[in-house]
Amino acid sequence: MSEPEVVDVYVAANGPQAHFLRGLLEDAGIEAQVVGDALQAAGYNTVTPPHLWVRAEQAKAARDLLRVWEGHVNDRPSEDRTPPTWVCPTCRAEVDADFELCWQCQTPRKPY
Ligand SMILES: [Zn+2]
Repeated sequence: MSEPEVVDVYVAANGPQAHFLRGLLEDAGIEAQVVGDALQAAGYNTVTPPHLWVRAEQAKAARDLLRVWEGHVNDRPSEDRTPPTWVCPTCRAEVDADFELCWQCQTPRKPY
């Protein structure tokens, strides 16, 4: 078998975004690789943004998925996505979802 042909489907803004999108594609069963980011990891001060490469036969599905993702990003600016909070059953304080205890009275999030 010959090497599968790969296609450049997306230019990411930065390394973390490229790896996030690679995970998104892989969740959808599309094998993807980040190209370009490795140079930065190796210490080269490259200004080339990372590219996402997928196999040619999966390029269309990958592009469709990325277009949907971009649409969601544009539809919902990050400032509109307030982090989820929970309300303390004891003192009614609003607690950030990252915390398992009420910051005010130490009541656990899910008392059993
Ligand atoms: Zn409380």
